[in-house]
Amino acid sequence: MTSPSLLDLREQVWRANLGLVRAGLVTLSFGNASGVDRRAGVLVIKPSGVPYDTLRPEHLVVVSLEDGRVVEGDLAPSSDTPTHLLLYQRFPDIGGVVHTHSTAATAWAQAHRSIPALGTTHADHFHGAVPVTRELAETEVTGAYERETGAVIVETLARLGLSAVEMPAALVASHGPFTWGHDAEEAVVNATALETVAEMARQTLALNPAVESMPSYLAEKHYRRKHGPDAYYGQKRR
Ligand SMILES: [Zn+2]
Repeated sequence: MTSPSLLDLREQVWRANLGLVRAGLVTLSFGNASGVDRRAGVLVIKPSGVPYDTLRPEHLVVVSLEDGRVVEGDLAPSSDTPTHLLLYQRFPDIGGVVHTHSTAATAWAQAHRSIPALGTTHADHFHGAVPVTRELAETEVTGAYERETGAVIVETLARLGLSAVEMPAALVASHGPFTWGHDAEEAVVNATALETVAEMARQTLALNPAVESMPSYLAEKHYRRKHGPDAYYGQKRR
């Protein structure tokens, strides 16, 4: 795969940010998408505090993947940039990151509950329950808060033995969801899927509080037909 030029990446990340709004995932101004060019050693992210309706590709900020320095752009990057940066540093296979405060997924994060796999919509996107992190300690919040937010996501997946590819989402306790993917566009798709399955799970548990996770053979079937080496769902990628 060839890396898109920085111009293409700006355009792609700009579209991803607008895609979050279009998908109804942005509450107030809480929401940001980024994308990475690993060959160039940079990530491109939404600037801080610029309204979505006036956002243009040239407003996006280019940040060094190594140390978080702004290498291109006149505006300050999103305050969540250190979280995105840490995820790119620790998950080498991902190319896009999204953070929102979408209502249903945030409700699970606030309830300190992972989202159980209850049906095939979930299994199509996430390999098992979508995990929730532990609460950040006071020293982590008063210290490098945004970077610690990324670190607790990495810690959570490691503790559960999950790769970032099989689990492209996590709920940060008392905060909200982060998702990622091969690129910014896929991270938006995963944020949309996450919000959908979060709402479906909430309604399912309201109807039947005793419901159990779906059978693993059904979950595996759905995950593998979209993501496994023998995936056959959708059109063949050329
Ligand atoms: Zn947030």
